[in-house]
Amino acid sequence: MRLIPLLKDSYYFFKRRLFLILWISLVTYIFYNTYMFYFNGRQFYYIRRILGLGLCISRGTASVINLCCALVLLPLCKKLNQVLYRILSKLWPNLFFFWLERAKSFHMTVAVTLVMLALVHSVSHFVNLWNFSRSYDERMKEINFAKYKNESPFFLLLSQPGLTGVSMLIIILLMGMTSMRVVRRNIYNAFWYTHQLYMLFIALLIVHPLSGVLKEEILDDVESSPITSHEEGWSNSSSIDTHKFISIRSKTWTWMAFPLGCFLIDLLWRISSRNRAKVHILEVTHMPGRTLSLTLSCPYNQFMCRMGQYILLQCLDISLLEWHPFTIVKVPTSNSRNFVVWVRVKGDWTEHLERLLLENGANRLSFLVDGAFSSPMEGAAADEVALCVAAGVGITPFVSLLHHMLLKPRTKLPGRIHLLWIVRTEEEITWLADLANDTILQLRDANRPDRLHIEFYVTGTKGNDIKAFEGKEECSATHMVVINEKGKITHALSNNEKSMTDDEKASLLTPNRRRHACTDDEKRNNLNHMKYYEIAKEYPLLGCRLKRGRPHWDRVFGYWVHLYPHKRLNLYCCGTKKLVKSLKNKCKYITSNTKTKITIVHERFS
Ligand SMILES: Cc1cc2nc3c(=O)[nH]c(=O)nc-3n(C[C@H](O)[C@H](O)[C@H](O)COP(=O)(O)OP(=O)(O)OC[C@H]3O[C@@H](n4cnc5c(N)ncnc54)[C@H](O)[C@@H]3O)c2cc1C
Repeated sequence: MRLIPLLKDSYYFFKRRLFLILWISLVTYIFYNTYMFYFNGRQFYYIRRILGLGLCISRGTASVINLCCALVLLPLCKKLNQVLYRILSKLWPNLFFFWLERAKSFHMTVAVTLVMLALVHSVSHFVNLWNFSRSYDERMKEINFAKYKNESPFFLLLSQPGLTGVSMLIIILLMGMTSMRVVRRNIYNAFWYTHQLYMLFIALLIVHPLSGVLKEEILDDVESSPITSHEEGWSNSSSIDTHKFISIRSKTWTWMAFPLGCFLIDLLWRISSRNRAKVHILEVTHMPGRTLSLTLSCPYNQFMCRMGQYILLQCLDISLLEWHPFTIVKVPTSNSRNFVVWVRVKGDWTEHLERLLLENGANRLSFLVDGAFSSPMEGAAADEVALCVAAGVGITPFVSLLHHMLLKPRTKLPGRIHLLWIVRTEEEITWLADLANDTILQLRDANRPDRLHIEFYVTGTKGNDIKAFEGKEECSATHMVVINEKGKITHALSNNEKSMTDDEKASLLTPNRRRHACTDDEKRNNLNHMKYYEIAKEYPLLGCRLKRGRPHWDRVFGYWVHLYPHKRLNLYCCGTKKLVKSLKNKCKYITSNTKTKITIVHERFS
């Protein structure tokens, strides 16, 4: 009886880890193959006598490093990915979005393998240097890197391959360490600038093996040459002089030629197009929650982009190197040749931009645009039913869908959109309020109201709302309610619990009352001397779609399963790691326990 769930679990485990399993198998195969080649190859007999297994390990890891260096570049070819999109969108669009969504994790998996193998490769070469010096033999001085016995390995390291190798190791370790999530989130620039060393790394990678330190014997027929003749040669010092050696040929070029070619073409294409793509700010709106709405002119006449795509933006007045990605919330049409991006002020670059806009105005700033580039969120525009979940500024990929529905309420695709937007404060809903309100009305007029199901979840308390709105006033809330997984209120805490009256406790613990940190008395007091923003007053159509607290995913998914009992759906999620993780688990549960199959497609902005 327990066998079936076990089989099911194993099936899902392998399905989820399929890519990783395939990758580890490929890496192991290449390492093992090269290792055995050097372990058994007769032409390496003499060098193997000096270096031992260090030779096989260093060559095995070198092959995997070559593979990693070749593959790590492919997800970065943004323009070529666009070409791929044009081809695949006709044949198999889902495959392209699958590749796009996995491109980042593919790059990271390959990069982690590269760092690990680079470490092993370096250690094996340090051991090789030591062995060159320790096992120095006059008979084999032609193939020994050391010039005399016990030459310091440190001096050997000061050679061209040694210095290039150490430099590459330092670069790759720097890149690896600054790529860690904690560094990326806190000092993104450290991650960004160390990654600019990749060009130097590639140049060193090509130069590193050219000196030909490792030598193989020239044999007439590698297969038939008996190993015993080598052993005799070794014991007979005169015969070894007759052997001829050449440097082991570097295979780095053969691995790197194609991907490096693609990468360089892509880079040149991007550099040439983006330096011509100057844009002007036509309008700036400062929205609540420190978010800017920038309306930008199109960089050139043919500039086109699709819903859900993003551009890279460079502000020459802020930095000549940094390019920051922002999703296009309103795509240009033939009538209006401009596009809009929303920029949440988060760190140094966006803060600098906000300051410049406030101090100098928009006219003095020059921007360059690179793109537009595809994102997995684009898939939502082509689905019959798209489930979309966004948190905060993660709403941007879905805003262009609303613009599209407003303009063309009767188009076939996107068919129907279930959009859930989770925000901290009610004020943030104003970013979208006009658009959402107009779209709902337009769809009603077109007799297609079912095309848009929109819900807003405000997770902050009214206190936070007030703070955000007033910017200065303190919240007087002293009570906190704790809500369990199912959305039921379990207990109430107070800073000064003794001061809590029975009445207040009862009101907090009553599930049907609004979940709110302030008691009724406090609320009445607040109302007397504070004004706070209520979306329902201005937009009644949106007010009835607003809920407080986080979504109760069991109910949300239950509703979707009820609506689409036998369908395959895509859930597009743009939000925090935690949100994506919990939705992934829900999708997995629904897919394995009901007839509705939900696949999650996600994007994270950090
Ligand atoms: C595909 C994509 C689309 C995005 N769309 C939007 C959008 O529509 N609106 C919006 O406000 N933000 C968007 N972002 C996030 C935005 O790019 C960052 O918030 C912005 O670059 C912050 O830069 P900063 O120097 O001010 O902040 P920092 O403090 O340097 O960084 C804040 C966070 O942003 C990320 N970040 C910083 N610089 C970059 C960069 N060059 N590339 C990628 N991530 C970076 C970091 O991981 C960090 O966690 C998007 C990100 C991606 C990857």
